Amino acid sequence: MTTNDPRDDIRSVADWLAGVKTAVAFTGAGVSTESGIPDFRSPGGVWATSQPVYFDEYLRSPAAREEYWRQKAETHVGFMAAQPNVTHTTLAEWEAAGTIRGVITQNIDGLHQIAGSRQVLELHGTARFVDCLDCGERHEADAMVTLFNEAGTVPACVRCGGVTKHATISFGQTLPADVLRASASWAGESDVFVVLGSSLVVEPAASLPRIAKERGAKLVIINRDRTPLDSWADMVIHAALGETIAAIAERLSGGLRA
Ligand code: ZN
Repeated sequence: MTTNDPRDDIRSVADWLAGVKTAVAFTGAGVSTESGIPDFRSPGGVWATSQPVYFDEYLRSPAAREEYWRQKAETHVGFMAAQPNVTHTTLAEWEAAGTIRGVITQNIDGLHQIAGSRQVLELHGTARFVDCLDCGERHEADAMVTLFNEAGTVPACVRCGGVTKHATISFGQTLPADVLRASASWAGESDVFVVLGSSLVVEPAASLPRIAKERGAKLVIINRDRTPLDSWADMVIHAALGETIAAIAERLSGGLRA
């Protein structure tokens, strides 16, 4: 349901968050685009000019691995330059204040953690780290990308010399079962489930709000464009994220002081 006055919508969402036991935020690419990181599928994104490397190709072909690292080195520059925006910092503040339990995210840029969020479920992994596919050793992505740029070859695991790959979920790679399980239980246990900047098209983004709603949560969707779940939601706000969440936060802090 939407009302005509956006201030009423903001007020309702703030009131729900103020009175809630367990709220969860779910974030997608729209949150990061306001930090200057292009949506991968958008015209400025990496798939506009490059073919994605599928996971099985990565395992079998050294050439595919080099192409993958070339793409990652390119997007890495943008990740390192990006800073958290008001949505990231507000969610971190809300977690610290107990307003939300944490963040489930489709983003791989690590900006929630940089903003101070501690409870973050990364459905698609993180581009801030590189993992060894053989022994599991975790490396800082920045150092590994530097090695790649210097040598022009895929850097080996520092511990065992094995094949390394960014700790993101590639096409054709299964999502981490533990993260999926935790996300589904957070959704099911939430009283308010707030979607921010996700088009809710791909799985599990499409399912988690349904799980929340079916278990009795209020579903709030804040996104620039329409989503397939808009008709299900208790509140839909089609607006720029940063200014919307800032308005909710202002209302929320005002309400708590009163
Ligand atoms: Zn290793």
